[in-house]
Amino acid sequence: MRKLLDIAAEIVQAQASVGQMSADSIEQALIKTFSTLQRMQRAEEKGILLDKSVAGEEVFVEEEAAPAKKDPRDSIMDDKIICLECGTEMRQLTTKHLSSHGLTPREYKKKYGFSLKQPLSAKSLTKARSKAAKKRGLPENLVKFLAERKQKKAEAAASEGGSTQGADPGEGRPKVKRRPKARKGA
Ligand SMILES: [Zn+2]
Repeated sequence: MRKLLDIAAEIVQAQASVGQMSADSIEQALIKTFSTLQRMQRAEEKGILLDKSVAGEEVFVEEEAAPAKKDPRDSIMDDKIICLECGTEMRQLTTKHLSSHGLTPREYKKKYGFSLKQPLSAKSLTKARSKAAKKRGLPENLVKFLAERKQKKAEAAASEGGSTQGADPGEGRPKVKRRPKARKGA
């Protein structure tokens, strides 16, 4: 069995003899041809059915290797989230944006192995949201009612402040008129 490099050299030699190739492009062609042959051989060993087009096989291998490097969870950071479909950084991954990739948020989470509860927004935004959500958890009318009651209390306290003496227990009884004091002596 001939060595792959020999085969590659032969292929490139044939190419170089047809067209005019610089030393650089011969080298590149050699490297490319060699690695392609290597892949073909590996595929053959594994019993993978090879596509007729070698270029197609090449693309397939490279595409498969790239996304495996990153942990999808790394895409959610304190101040931003990175769309794992297109790499865009944003504060939150909206349903509208995901639909441009033909995905729903649910499908996106499933595809990248997120929990379905995972909010698709920057961590800082998620924290702010959950605080706001707790406040919003009270029905709006109740919040309004509480606010009004608070205001009434405040008003009442303010008007009470004007007459601190409180209710006069003697109210209703005829008031005793004070006579001018007679002066003693004279
Ligand atoms: Zn995207």
